[in-house]
Amino acid sequence: MTIDQATGIKAQSYQQWIDGNACDAASGERFTRSSPAHDIVVGDYPLADVADTDRAVAAARKAFDTGPWPRMSGAERSRVLFRVADLVETHKDQLVLADVLEGGKPITQVRAEIAGAIDLWRYAAGQARSQHGESNSSLGPHMLGLTTREPVGVVALITPWNFPFVILSQKLPFALAAGCTVVVKPSELTPGSALRLGAILDEAGVPAGVVNIIVGYGATVGQRLAEHPNVDMISFTGSTAVGKGIVRASAGNLKRVALELGGKNPQIVCADADLDAAADAVVFGVFFNAGQCCNSSSRLIVEKSISEEFLARVEALTKRVTVGDPLDEATKVGAIVNQNQMDRILGFVSGARSDGAKVRLGGTRMETAKGLFMTPTVVSDVTRQMPIATDEVFGPVLSTLTFEDLDDAISIANGTHYGLSAGIWTSRYESALKAGRELSAGTIWVNCWMDGFPEMPFGGMRESGIGREQGPHAIEDFMETKSVLFHQGPRTNLWVPAAGVGRQ
Ligand code: NAD
Repeated sequence: MTIDQATGIKAQSYQQWIDGNACDAASGERFTRSSPAHDIVVGDYPLADVADTDRAVAAARKAFDTGPWPRMSGAERSRVLFRVADLVETHKDQLVLADVLEGGKPITQVRAEIAGAIDLWRYAAGQARSQHGESNSSLGPHMLGLTTREPVGVVALITPWNFPFVILSQKLPFALAAGCTVVVKPSELTPGSALRLGAILDEAGVPAGVVNIIVGYGATVGQRLAEHPNVDMISFTGSTAVGKGIVRASAGNLKRVALELGGKNPQIVCADADLDAAADAVVFGVFFNAGQCCNSSSRLIVEKSISEEFLARVEALTKRVTVGDPLDEATKVGAIVNQNQMDRILGFVSGARSDGAKVRLGGTRMETAKGLFMTPTVVSDVTRQMPIATDEVFGPVLSTLTFEDLDDAISIANGTHYGLSAGIWTSRYESALKAGRELSAGTIWVNCWMDGFPEMPFGGMRESGIGREQGPHAIEDFMETKSVLFHQGPRTNLWVPAAGVGRQ
């Protein structure tokens, strides 16, 4: 561990976790991550490649085919998962620090994220006990039907950098509750919190090989997991482009694929809405996590008659959003994750300018001694076809469009390839109901934004994904349904007539 003298920030050294052991990469190679807010190295990790991936999959395969985990009762698995939740709580400060420093995210926000993640582990622990299948006794006097639920098998989890521990916790505890065994590949930009989980799982009593955690690049480790013949399912959260590649790569053994992908999420603001509440939610929705959020409400669709008045409120609030050091308790918006991402965001803003949109606020990289920070940006006069209105910017950039009537607003809102989330601000019941029914997205927020609960399913329509996480059926994603039909009594309806029957 090395300590930066100026900031006191300690760089952590990690190992990967395979078959119940902390170990180095087979090649011995390592890589580092610098804090995007402080420009100093904060983590040093083994760099996995195909050999490590194959070892991790082999360990998960063995644990699934012959190990105790899939054969335990749901109650036993549940007890272990509750212990994991308790231990995550015990070690939460280290997990928080890893996500803050590697991701550049505000510390107050990450504390809430880890608390939410612990809640997900507890919710999944409950589901481990409720997978009892069904029976059907209405199939006639000679037949009893049972449907049983069985774990899918070896599951690969590939996760992004923007909510490292939360997104892992939307998948891993549910896969474990189902009785699956797992290989986890966190993003190479933010692997620390996932790597810390290995020892926690071990202490909680998760048997060796049930969870394996390796870090490497998407093109090597991620691709190998997606193609691997011994992986039965892949659950991926990340960009739509990579998600499409995963579908192609997984075709070799027709893996089950669950995808949580990008979004271009609209908030519709009607003239009859509570405009103060809506303005606060619009500012929160687009600048939270520096806009690097699948649920970022990057499109404001506001009724034309109030658009200037509403934008004035949004701009006034935006000027009060605190951007800066993620370790500062007062910071609301932290750093941009890396230079590529910064260049991409600035590219969208300059493209919008050339297309005729108006940058009313921000639009530039902030002048700071250290780190990558972007000024919260508000763009108006955006039209439906501009790339800034159709593509995921993944930065603190609000694009504003206007509408004349609700049909128009819904048509603009639904006018992209994405369908992750959408919202409406209105005081009219009819408008809320219409939007709730006609907006094409996996989650619709009415007079709120980004509220979420383990009890509520989350996922995308169209190019925002396949499947749903969370909610009462989350565990089913990781299970196969089997029909077992029991015949009772002598065979009925002989296919080959008994000898002598039918002859004269
Ligand atoms: P990304 O797609 O670049 O990477 C995600 C993960 O995939 C990383 O672990 C990466 O190493 C891996 N990967 C990259 N190339 C791969 C390949 N060829 N094969 C297999 N794996 C590969 O995404 P990102 O930049 O880390 O995250 C941002 C994206 O994630 C945004 O599009 C965002 O909307 C999306 N996201 C979606 C949700 C959701 O729940 N829908 C949540 C968070 C983020």
